[in-house]
Amino acid sequence: MIIVLRPDATEEQINHIVSKVQKLGLTPHLSRGTQRTIIGVIGPEDVLRVTPLEVFPGVENVIPVLAPFKLVSREFHKEDSVIELGKGIKIGGNKIVVMAGPCTIENIDLLYEIAKEVKAAGATVLRGGAFKPRTSPYSFQGLGEKGLQYLREVGNELGLVTVTEVMDARDVGLVSGYADVLQIGCRNMQNFNLLKEVGQIQKPVLLKRGMSSTVKEMLMSAEYILAGGNFNVILCERGIRTFEDSTRNTLDISAVAVAKQLSHLPIIIDPSHAAGRWSYVPALSKAAIACGADGLIVEVHSHPEEAVSDGVQSLIPSNFMKMMQELKILAKVSGREI
Ligand code: PEP
Ligand code: MN
Repeated sequence: MIIVLRPDATEEQINHIVSKVQKLGLTPHLSRGTQRTIIGVIGPEDVLRVTPLEVFPGVENVIPVLAPFKLVSREFHKEDSVIELGKGIKIGGNKIVVMAGPCTIENIDLLYEIAKEVKAAGATVLRGGAFKPRTSPYSFQGLGEKGLQYLREVGNELGLVTVTEVMDARDVGLVSGYADVLQIGCRNMQNFNLLKEVGQIQKPVLLKRGMSSTVKEMLMSAEYILAGGNFNVILCERGIRTFEDSTRNTLDISAVAVAKQLSHLPIIIDPSHAAGRWSYVPALSKAAIACGADGLIVEVHSHPEEAVSDGVQSLIPSNFMKMMQELKILAKVSGREI
């Protein structure tokens, strides 16, 4: 449930309510908006039948949350959440954040070469996988910690924020020691132990939608992370499985509209894994911006024909640059900025 406080509620009254909620064995989450302060209450709410919180000084209203996701819901936090990614880059506000880089980190020189290009085009976040979720166990599985080292080195050298996937709950400490943003891949969207683990850290988490999951299921997964205490979650639509086989997946652009209405969390689009072909990526990226997405994560490779993974869907730097120029115009028309 959500406790809406009166605009004139004092700190003393707020603290009193928070400690009462805790004494009842529930977890309070305080959210201070520009207009209102509200307290989200998580836990078995039955106890509140005998202790109605409406009567406490400073309380204006107590609203039950009907949606199964509470902390991620718009009801809990009316304004869009703006999340700090590091190096002064924020997502969820007026500025659209573009993350770009290779699917897999292959070696440091190649990573540096690609990173320089994506930075020159206007990307502020460098992507690259060190732990790769491959369909076949015989495919290249990633460089592991060595890859994380390369990512950090290149990110620091060029002043780029870094994002990389963590596949295993046991690696959360390791990956968060190197990367600015931790990605949960689509195949792990419902790996609840992994979600709980990233809920315990404060680094931003990029949560990708499962290829066969609904938007609401994605929001439930995000709820796991917020419930653990980490409110820095960015949602990502990356295409879902449908009967359509012209593209690798079907980009569900409506996920942006739905998630924006149901949740305060930022949402980005991954046009590369949705399309599966580089030539579709600019059109899908434009659709994402027009629809109100807060960012993009795009695969870029300087030699896609030699890439160890996802070369077919990777833009070459010159095409990425061209796309970015077009996106900048579109962002401006939409009242935003890249
Ligand atoms: C990726 O970003 O490299 C990736 C594997 O994405 P997804 O989990 O969406 O397939
Ligand atoms: Mn990939």
